[in-house]
Order: sequence, then structure tokens, then C-alpha cells
Amino acid sequence: MAVNGRTPLIAGNWKMNLDHLQAVAFVQKLHWALKDAKHEDDSVEVAVFPPFTDLRTVQTLIDADKIPFAFGAQDLSTHDSGAYTGEISGAFLSKLQCGYVIIGHSERRQYHHETDEVVAAKVQAALRHGLVPVICVGETLEQREESGPTAVSVAQLEVALEGVPASADIVVAYEPVWAIGTGQVASPEQAQEVCAALRAVLADKLDADAAARTRILYGGSVKSSNVASFMREPDVDGALVGGASLVVDEFAAIIRYQKHVGV
Ligand code: PEP
Repeated sequence: MAVNGRTPLIAGNWKMNLDHLQAVAFVQKLHWALKDAKHEDDSVEVAVFPPFTDLRTVQTLIDADKIPFAFGAQDLSTHDSGAYTGEISGAFLSKLQCGYVIIGHSERRQYHHETDEVVAAKVQAALRHGLVPVICVGETLEQREESGPTAVSVAQLEVALEGVPASADIVVAYEPVWAIGTGQVASPEQAQEVCAALRAVLADKLDADAAARTRILYGGSVKSSNVASFMREPDVDGALVGGASLVVDEFAAIIRYQKHVGV
């Protein structure tokens, strides 16, 4: 448990990597890599976000072997059912015992033209089905130069939280687009500046309890060598990890290292 009462969350976004057979091997190896006394405690929550086609397999494995990882999907439909070919309902994810769903990842915004309004509708869909939305926000380099470091993320979060109950369980991920998959990591101070601004949005939109318990993650080229520097920042409560979450030893080191520094 962190000093601020929020359990750090280390989340691995697999994107379109690892099929369901590879997922089994990965989850088992990660579990073994972390299987020491410390892993059984509650000092950090580990979550994996496999492709849709892996979810049933991952759920069965985690359930059968009592593996202490949470898991979730990388996206969901704004609709609950019906003639929406190729879409996945939050109801289905909920039945698979997904705890979380990533919403508004910059790759969805960029390649699938998801607007802030679509993101907001997906947040509503997640909450309707008892899923915790991991709401991704972040600016491009151009936007940072034009409107400063915080404006885009703050505006994206404000729209995403429209109509959300004040007591809602959510997670926010600050992912500067220029730092995703580029190796060009934000500095801890840059991450803190935006996460503090996002914390203020939470205080405005949610009730005091919900705002205080909501975790804000940093994402963008997180590795075992830099995770501790982010975790030391007061408004950073974890990491959303892409590339480095696909390498068992590296992801385990990210999880272990931040535990060892005792944040
Ligand atoms: C991501 O896609 O959410 C991400 C943070 O990727 P990476 O860690 O590879 O930059």
C-alpha cells in the first residue's frame, strides 16, 4: 500500500501481441518470476491486458492456478448488444470476470478515430457492466508545443468523466503520445505536472473518497530502469506498460523494483 493509501497498479498492455497459447506461457512464467513472499502481499496490483481472443484462456488459468493478477480488455463497444459486427460488449467482458478495460488509448484515437465523445460513451459502457475503465489521455508533441503540457489531457479527462457517477471506480493513465513506443520517455517532473493537473480534475468531478482512491498511471516507454523515478512522484500511482510488458523478466523487474523502493 502506498503512503497515500492507493495501491500501486502496474498494468501490461499487450496490444496485438501474444496469441492464447503464448499467453498461457507468459502468465505462468510471470507468476513464477514473481513467486516469492513479497508477491503474495498487497504492495502492488499487477494487471495484464491481452487481446480479446486470449481473455477466456487467461481467465481460466488465473482462476485455476489462483494467480494474483488482475486482467482486462484493451477496448469495448459503446453498445451492449445487437448488430455491431466485430464489436465486443462490456457484458461479455464482465462475464469473463475482466476487472478492467482500457479506454481511449492513443492508438485507438489515432487509428480508429475515436473522439473524446466516443471515449466518454465507452466509459459509460464499462461502468454499466461493472468494469473499471482505465481512461487514457495524453498529448502529441505538436499539442504540447501549442497548448502546453496539461491542457489536452485535462480536456480529454473532463469529457471522459461527463455524466460519470461521483463515486465511480476508475483509473486514469497519462500517456504522452510522443513517449509511447518511442523510447522517448517523459521526465518524472513532466509526468508529475500532468498527473497533478489530472488529480485536480478528479477532485472536481468525483466525490472526495473516489477522487482520493483513483489511481493515475504514467505510460510511455516505462522500463525497469526508469519505473522507480516515476513512482516517487506524489501523483503517479503506477504504470501502464506496453513494449516492456511483453518480456517476462523485464515486466517482473518493473513490478519488483517499484515494490522494493517501497512506494
Ligand atoms: C502503451 O501503449 O500504453 C505504452 C505505454 O507503450 P510503451 O510502454 O511501449 O511506450
